[in-house]
Amino acid sequence: MTTSVIIIGAGMGGLASALRLALHGFRVSVIEARASAGGLASGFEKDGFLFDAGPYILLDRNGLEWAFNQLGLDLESSVSLRKIEDVYEVSSESASVHFHSDLEETAAGFERQWKGSGKRYRDFVESSLIVYERLRPLLHVSHPGLLDLIRFRALTVAPFVLRSLKSVLDRTGLPRPVIDALSIWTHIAGQQASEAPSVMAMVPALIHKVGAYYPVNGIGSIPEVLARAAESAGVEFRYGCKIKSIRCTRGRVAGVETADGEFIAADAVVSNHSGVGTYLELTDATPRRASERLKKLPLQSPGVIAYLAVKGRIRPPYLRFNLPANELCRLLVAPSVLAPETERDGWWPARLIAPMRFAEAESGESRQREYLSRILEESWWRALIEEHRVIATRIPSEWGREFTLYRDSMNAVMTAQLMRRGRLSHRSPYARGLYLAGSSTHPGQWVSFAAISGILAADCLREDYEPDAA
Ligand SMILES: Cc1cc2nc3c(=O)[nH]c(=O)nc-3n(C[C@H](O)[C@H](O)[C@H](O)COP(=O)(O)OP(=O)(O)OC[C@H]3O[C@@H](n4cnc5c(N)ncnc54)[C@H](O)[C@@H]3O)c2cc1C
Repeated sequence: MTTSVIIIGAGMGGLASALRLALHGFRVSVIEARASAGGLASGFEKDGFLFDAGPYILLDRNGLEWAFNQLGLDLESSVSLRKIEDVYEVSSESASVHFHSDLEETAAGFERQWKGSGKRYRDFVESSLIVYERLRPLLHVSHPGLLDLIRFRALTVAPFVLRSLKSVLDRTGLPRPVIDALSIWTHIAGQQASEAPSVMAMVPALIHKVGAYYPVNGIGSIPEVLARAAESAGVEFRYGCKIKSIRCTRGRVAGVETADGEFIAADAVVSNHSGVGTYLELTDATPRRASERLKKLPLQSPGVIAYLAVKGRIRPPYLRFNLPANELCRLLVAPSVLAPETERDGWWPARLIAPMRFAEAESGESRQREYLSRILEESWWRALIEEHRVIATRIPSEWGREFTLYRDSMNAVMTAQLMRRGRLSHRSPYARGLYLAGSSTHPGQWVSFAAISGILAADCLREDYEPDAA
């Protein structure tokens, strides 16, 4: 009899898992709380403008390409990607630091401001690239450990993996504003460089050597491709249905129960809900000690966001970060820089994003709204545009309600400590037949990582149910 699998959630992780399993002959049903697929990576249309809900940049084209290949798809021909040449600028009271796709142009800009920093930056990028190439195969392995480092001849980079982002960047000898600008990818997640894993130091190497990309029709076009392919492969989708619990009998998954009390039997379940949320809220198979440990993992708030229409084109770069002293950064995203065709009667879509510390976001909706209003009043971004209209907004509690987020958070923040202890596994150690797909199993909250995770979760399931097939 064909093995039946239920996938909870049609985010990037759930979709990749569903497609992978369907292609290998499993009977797959995806149950999604929202009315459409894509999760945090989905887009929406309002007032004639197309917006991405959350993501704005692809920093790991290689990873996404790998995931597409594994699913029998070709990224290049499925999604129209535009390379971002003028990538980002970080402005603070003391300096503006500008990153281009071109390494030489970026290094020359640094050299003009801080003598000697151009060569230091080039050296840093070259050495990070070597580490990246060594570690890359480990991204495609479920729950990698020491043995995998040996297997992929990556043992020499083990000391690097054990360090924090701050310790890696401090050793570069680069000026403080450049170090702050290099840490921005961790800062935008509301995290300090001292807590962040060293692997975040590889982002500049990715930008200069692989390139940063943006799909012409928005990031939302990526899960759309996966959802279409999954449907063609026979995956059944049920939208507008929330799963309340995963039922287990004698330590083995028996099926899921919907919020309306319907029981749906299945041989296995892949959860694309938050990893921590799955163990703490959807199943009672999690042992008490594991629950206590999971409760302590630091969570990441999705922050506040304003979806804007702006008059006149914003000049490059594509991303402008503002870094006020002693506060979290803010970000203005200008797709008009890359996709002039998004114009409607002289107006373009843009987004204003600001991370919020999880603890602060937890202090309630009125605090979240106040924070968003304050960001909307700030002069740094208003000075860059002629006129604007706020088309829509989201605060953490709205993200939480709309995307069924555990405690209104994204998956647990990947800290240096969690990286050392090991990420959450794709195969649940607590209930047989339960698997996790999505960003919680990978070293960061990226669309590509969630897709890779979905494939690895599916492969663990295949190993367990069809040992000869995987
Ligand atoms: C503001 C913001 C900016 C970001 N920027 C970037 C970026 O620039 N680049 C990048 O690569 N990534 C970025 N990300 C991260 C990226 O969007 C996520 O890492 C990725 O989309 C997560 O995919 P996922 O599969 O883990 O889960 P999700 O996207 O969370 O999908 C889970 C799905 O499961 C459904 N679901 C959950 N629980 C249930 C349930 N109980 N029953 C039924 N359905 C359920 C949800 O509705 C959702 O559709 C950003 C995210 C945000 C919020």
